[in-house]
Amino acid sequence: MNSHSSSENSEAYIALGANLGDREATLLEAIHRLNRHPEITILRCSSLYETDPVGYVDQPNFINMALALQTTLEPEQLLTVMLQIELDLGRERHIHWGPRTVDLDLLWMEGRTLDTPRLTLPHPRMHERAFVLVPLAEIVPATETTGLYPYVQHALTSGGGKEGVRLWKECSWPSASGHSAN
Ligand code: ADP
Ligand code: MG
Repeated sequence: MNSHSSSENSEAYIALGANLGDREATLLEAIHRLNRHPEITILRCSSLYETDPVGYVDQPNFINMALALQTTLEPEQLLTVMLQIELDLGRERHIHWGPRTVDLDLLWMEGRTLDTPRLTLPHPRMHERAFVLVPLAEIVPATETTGLYPYVQHALTSGGGKEGVRLWKECSWPSASGHSAN
């Protein structure tokens, strides 16, 4: 299963969510920061969806989206980059509102399965979350040969449907790439 040499490019899928402050700007900034990493190239972005909060419902609606990227990083290294971006964006923009202004989850990485306290791949809850599956389905090509496409299609039709997930707008990346705040 884990047959990758360390310098090889792997495709990975990430779910992004935000529910405080300027949600769209925060998500776009997270994408820019990922793409600025020398070992990460963004390949595709889904549309942005507005979604009802799940679990703890007494909080604002989320904007959720998914993206596909290519990287030579190992999964744990990619997660480290993602968690640092979460910290940087949450802390500098919304310190009074708690640290969860942006959530970056690593959903799936080509040829990789992992189950450690720090990182589980594929993401163990992605199949039950419409706010992850609906955007993800937009950017997983039907020609994807490692099983992600049928996995997503099956999860979408056998799960709780698409309730509470509303198409909000197209992703403006990369056309907004010259307008980042820093
Ligand atoms: P959630 O995304 O479920 O709301 P958090 O964003 O607070 O929770 O993540 C908590 C921890 O989950 C992270 O510190 C990370 O180490 C761990 N984790 C395990 N697997 C993954 C994964 N596939 N993607 C992102 N985080 C993961
Ligand atoms: Mg998370």
